[in-house]
Amino acid sequence: MEKIVKGLKIDPLIFKFPFVEKCNISVCSGECCWYGVYVDLREMENIIQHKEIIKQYMDETQTKDESKWFEPLEEDKDFESGYCAGTEVFNHKCVFLDKKGFCSLQKTAMERGEFKWKYKPLYCVLFPLTIYDGKLTVDDEHINRLHYCSKPKYQVSTVFEAMKEELIFILGEDGYADLKEYSKELLEEKRIEITK
Ligand code: SF4
Repeated sequence: MEKIVKGLKIDPLIFKFPFVEKCNISVCSGECCWYGVYVDLREMENIIQHKEIIKQYMDETQTKDESKWFEPLEEDKDFESGYCAGTEVFNHKCVFLDKKGFCSLQKTAMERGEFKWKYKPLYCVLFPLTIYDGKLTVDDEHINRLHYCSKPKYQVSTVFEAMKEELIFILGEDGYADLKEYSKELLEEKRIEITK
């Protein structure tokens, strides 16, 4: 039977998919952000509401014209509001990625002493995890087009191990504990094999 934690189906792949120990912007330059991301309508509204503050943390490689920040809205049931929009690509990277490879949305929050993910879209926080059709799984397609975290020589961890903080953020401490138990069960029953 499929495992469900906090309303999300759990793909056992998350426990065995190899990944880097943690993100390293100095090596990868934030390349997972080059293509933009889909954000929930509510996240988009939150960003627009704080646009003047966010602009203070953008550099000359980014556009401060907020009308160029998002693509048109579309319907999508994987988003809480039922609607999402892609962030635009500007200068060959997400409109919110600065020249050093940092997300201006996260930078804004951190520099202001706020919760670091206050403005950051959920799917950015989650990557390399993603939610597809109500299932928490691995965004292997996106990983495969990246030059750093896709390389076996750097993959010393699993997605599950690397993403503890993010998993606690979306599932809570109790949800994370539930996931850990589930991974143990899978290992004991030899339904997954971890090679890293
Ligand atoms: S919003 Fe921030 S974290 Fe998300 S893709 Fe853009 S730069 Fe990267």
